[in-house]
Amino acid sequence: MKKILLIGTGGTIASQLTADGLAPELTSEQLLAQIPSISEICRVESVQLLNLDSTNIAPEHWLRMVRCIRKHYKDYDGFVLTHGTDTMAYTAAALSYLIQQSPKPIVLTGAQKPIGFDVTDSKANLKDAFRVASSDMPGVSLVFNGKVILGTRAQKIRSKSFEAFSSINYPALGVLRDGVLLPYIRQECGPEPVFYEALDTRVSLLKLIPGTDPALLDFLLERSDALVIESFGVGGLPEYEGADFCGSVCRWTERGRLVVLTTQVQNEGSDLGVYHVGHRLKAVPGVLEAFDMTTEAVTAKLMWILGQTRDAQQAQRLFYAPVAHDILWPAER
Ligand code: ASP
Repeated sequence: MKKILLIGTGGTIASQLTADGLAPELTSEQLLAQIPSISEICRVESVQLLNLDSTNIAPEHWLRMVRCIRKHYKDYDGFVLTHGTDTMAYTAAALSYLIQQSPKPIVLTGAQKPIGFDVTDSKANLKDAFRVASSDMPGVSLVFNGKVILGTRAQKIRSKSFEAFSSINYPALGVLRDGVLLPYIRQECGPEPVFYEALDTRVSLLKLIPGTDPALLDFLLERSDALVIESFGVGGLPEYEGADFCGSVCRWTERGRLVVLTTQVQNEGSDLGVYHVGHRLKAVPGVLEAFDMTTEAVTAKLMWILGQTRDAQQAQRLFYAPVAHDILWPAER
């Protein structure tokens, strides 16, 4: 029987009703006590790493998760992290960059309703996560509502329903039906995982609205090493009297900042070259394009890249190099 480590980090799954609303209070041991039949699937040991609402999860916590998995890697066959749903997709993306090529499964899960509620998705999600962690599906994934989603492709799409996550621009790795895992895609992996423990957190995101004040761009780029701009449709920057977005971007990229253009549309990604408003940006060194990547993956990847290098060309090369199928290889586009 496989031996799995449960790493508790908080979230709704571990929450209880308090006078001030739901707050994570249950320990990973208490979660396990709610699913005694887990002993039929695997042997479980647990650690309580954090107990946070995932709104409070920050990059330093991703590094703590990585260190915990690294420390215990040899002793277990797989890992389950319970986590709040709100930022789980960011954590799944971050762990995909910080732990690459893992031959063992590293599975994130959580729930929309606490484990102690009469109607809850907690028990099914937790048991499914242990099934995947005990399987032959390597690498980082997110298991939720019967779906196994690649860590770099997950996005939260519903704030209340059990069907909370979607796999964006990539098929689900598998599904779970009545406790049976049907694996469709097996991530490739190495003989050993490659761990990284450095991140540059000076990465920001600007979501455009019609009439965005161009001064916001300068404000953010002054304080960031990389800026992700979620623009409209296939991508572009506004160009009208008094709004020189393109000029600002050029000034900052000349000073070594990275700017990534992406889209606020959930599916199908960017294609900057299509319209005049985007086309001229393609020629600006230091301006990158997210194509089919999620914003969660783009922001985590930039933190991972800038944690390793300050060289703009190397950063650019790393950005477009696929990690855990986060971006389609350019030749496939
Ligand atoms: N606010 C909670 C969290 O992200 C929501 C959840 O877990 O579903 O921690």
